[in-house]
Amino acid sequence: MSALDSLDPEQRRAAEIVRGPVAVLAGAGTGKTRVITHRIAYGVEEGTYTPNRVLALTFTSKAAGELRGRLRAMGVVGVQAKTFHAAALAQLNYFWPTVAGDTAPRIVDNKVRLLAHAADAVRLRPDTNTLRDIAAQIEWRKVTMRSIDEFATLDRSVGAVSASALVDLMAAYEKLKDERRQLDFEDVLLACAGMIESEPRVAGAVREQYRHFTVDEYQDVSALQNRLLELWLGTRRDICVVGDASQTIYSFTGADASFLLDFGRTYPDSTIVRLERNYRSAPPVLGVANALMRDRPGALRLVAATADAEGPRPTVTAYDDDLAEANGIAARIRALLDGGSTPGDIAVLYRSHAQSAALTEALSRQQIPTSALGGTRFFDMPEVRQAILAIRAAAVAPSDLSFSSAVRDVLRGLGHSDEAPDAGGARRAAWEARQAILRLAEEAGDGSTLRGFADELLARAKDQHEPALTTVTLATLHAAKGLEWPTVFLAGASEGLLPISYATTLDGIDEERRLAYVGITRAERRLEVSWSRGGRAARRPSRFLSEIGTDTLREVGASATGSVGRG
Ligand code: ATP
Ligand code: MG
Repeated sequence: MSALDSLDPEQRRAAEIVRGPVAVLAGAGTGKTRVITHRIAYGVEEGTYTPNRVLALTFTSKAAGELRGRLRAMGVVGVQAKTFHAAALAQLNYFWPTVAGDTAPRIVDNKVRLLAHAADAVRLRPDTNTLRDIAAQIEWRKVTMRSIDEFATLDRSVGAVSASALVDLMAAYEKLKDERRQLDFEDVLLACAGMIESEPRVAGAVREQYRHFTVDEYQDVSALQNRLLELWLGTRRDICVVGDASQTIYSFTGADASFLLDFGRTYPDSTIVRLERNYRSAPPVLGVANALMRDRPGALRLVAATADAEGPRPTVTAYDDDLAEANGIAARIRALLDGGSTPGDIAVLYRSHAQSAALTEALSRQQIPTSALGGTRFFDMPEVRQAILAIRAAAVAPSDLSFSSAVRDVLRGLGHSDEAPDAGGARRAAWEARQAILRLAEEAGDGSTLRGFADELLARAKDQHEPALTTVTLATLHAAKGLEWPTVFLAGASEGLLPISYATTLDGIDEERRLAYVGITRAERRLEVSWSRGGRAARRPSRFLSEIGTDTLREVGASATGSVGRG
């Protein structure tokens, strides 16, 4: 069985060209991530790739973990899947001592605090929010590869901080950071790039290590990341990028989809593949996604791969206030669960972190366990570390219990019970985590040993191979990118939340539309959109709702539901 077998002809075309520059430009759910994993598997299978010389790059560690998981499921081991940042940091730490003779500088742990100290030095006292906005400008300057002088020509001010004061503060920040011998997050990429540029020995060693590069979600690459990618490549051409310009949602942090769109010009010998069929979502969901992007320049129309999978019509529900919206969503999810749905198949997505508290509370009142994407990672949870240590310790004591009973016994010793505590809160999260460990033990089967199981858990921890939790996912739209769920609730579709209040320019609104698009295209079958009038504040429905064509509103008490899209 070949890694190419389960691909359609276009996907296969992109996957079987394992050398040379390849770009896949295609819409949501068309199998881009699938193409790159199968392409890597195929390259390994037919002997072109040595696994540890393949570097797959992503923008979040969640996405890197997802890639590793998909590769592992295909039996491919040793391929590196990392964020740009993690790859750069590893190289910096490795090569710095050989170049500079000492250890690499420390990473700034609190940029805003450091910036506040720098502000003191130039006699400025911006409030915390202004400092955060200034930090964002510093980040943007670096990832777009502008010097402070170049930034100065833009004449940008932040709040009450004038353009010239901002430039002074930027210089003071760099000076203070140098004095403390620290690097910030963006400096890691800059320093890594600088080291490869100025040290031929480092460049040689780095290019010896990695030969084949793949980037998922390439529309999100910044000028700085792209520069680093070029340096890693050197004169080689083994690069495969996949992306969708309609899902560019990090422009505000310097992402630039033109690297994706111009790939064919940058690499004239490249193969460009377009994928036409969406394998993820039912036709009614695609109808809504297409309506939202209709007439947007460069937007790709999504067509369902299989005509048979109809599905419920997406709905829009209006509520009086945020509490009613959160309770309404929780009640809907309760009904779906009672009807046989699995919590892990459901996600609630929203624009801002601030929206999550009300949703988490409403769900926990309905006894629905949740976990937030981007929260504490599974293997970083103290309860999980403690459980692994306890399983290891128990391995040395003789026992006549079967393997899975022995694991259950160890977890009981840590206070685990069969009965779940009330949903919401840290106790339930800990219980869910231990429950996931039990499921892993059951999967491992009774031929396993405690020792072997502890080692397996440690190996999983090392490459962030998290077990699936059986909880409803809560996530911001940004964190949900690349992922999919059978049922998606999109909350807060009102003016001010989506588009968010500070998106006022045309570009800003377009980015918000792409965020809504990312949210909608996460749904496989069921999509339920909602918004709240915000009590007396009288919010209006999001302009995106009229773009997707809300029809007949059904009044439910003071709330209203309607279905959208033609499918
Ligand atoms: P996004 O733009 O949201 O990141 P994507 O283009 O990366 O989406 P994938 O996540 O790779 O899309 O694929 C979407 C879903 O469709 C996945 O569940 C994937 O397994 C499935 N899929 C893709 N191609 C095929 C295929 N040829 N046959 C069956 N299922 C497929
Ligand atoms: Mg993808």
